[in-house]
Amino acid sequence: TPKQPSNLSLLLQSILEEARQLPEAGKVADYIPALAAVDADYAGIAVATIDGQVHWAGDAEQCFSIQSVSKIFGLVQAMNRLGDSMWERVHMEPSGQSFNSIVQLEWEHGIPRNPFINAGAIVVSDMLVSHYSASKAAALSFIRRLAMTEQIWINEEVFQSEKEHGNRNAALAYLMKGFGNIVAEVPDVLDHYFYQCSVEMSCKQLALSLVFLANRGVHPLTEETICSRRDAHRVNAILSTSGMYDQSGEFAFTVGLPAKSGVGGGIAAVVPNYGVIAAWSPKLNSFGNSCRGMHMITRLAAQLGLSVY
Ligand code: GLN
Repeated sequence: TPKQPSNLSLLLQSILEEARQLPEAGKVADYIPALAAVDADYAGIAVATIDGQVHWAGDAEQCFSIQSVSKIFGLVQAMNRLGDSMWERVHMEPSGQSFNSIVQLEWEHGIPRNPFINAGAIVVSDMLVSHYSASKAAALSFIRRLAMTEQIWINEEVFQSEKEHGNRNAALAYLMKGFGNIVAEVPDVLDHYFYQCSVEMSCKQLALSLVFLANRGVHPLTEETICSRRDAHRVNAILSTSGMYDQSGEFAFTVGLPAKSGVGGGIAAVVPNYGVIAAWSPKLNSFGNSCRGMHMITRLAAQLGLSVY
């Protein structure tokens, strides 16, 4: 277990300042106008530890579009609700393709490589739509329970424009439906998927809401069991191999933590038996991962010796 520096907040502050000085790198996601409009200069970092503390620096209280980080919440809900039968419909291998790739689906008969590429998250969304009478409300209340606040909302503008620009995700969903791996109606499945992508959270909320993954499935503050110990290990394992898109190998190599990124610029990294780091800054590298977010997490992991390997 890494030791907690008494001045973790100071360390976060200096890492944040350093990230802010980085030469202009990367590009804000612009596939929908609502994301393109976000101020590129935002940068925040928060660390929630399993003893219930949250340390932070910069814009860690500013809410942003969590996008693909939401795939973690959906996955945990589905694991709880469906049990091991779900793994017949989505696998747990790295994809080696972009997050919205369609090619492997054809070769692999509509079974997505893992739950953290879009195709996988869409199958997981189908499971939730099919197993909850009000799956969107269930998703939001799950996230609120984890973050211990009712003050979490979706961004309606992002939600609507995801739907308007959702042709590629629709293609993934229809192809999988053709293979029999989508049960509900495709528009309902996409509605759920885009809804969870449109949730807005701050770094502080995100770190706290995922800290159960660092604590064997138990929320350290509410002491609720969010998922089994085995499933917490499994989520972390898939995060390690597939959470950072096509940069997952490099992230394991340089940082060594299970982590998930989203095109809103957020990254959540799990440090087993210690806590969760959430970093956010909107400019993305060519893999779709936040440049400054990667930088901050890399520095913190190195300084505290956090690699799980
Ligand atoms: N809403 C985005 C999409 O489905 C989320 C992608 C992401 O964050 N990687 O394309």
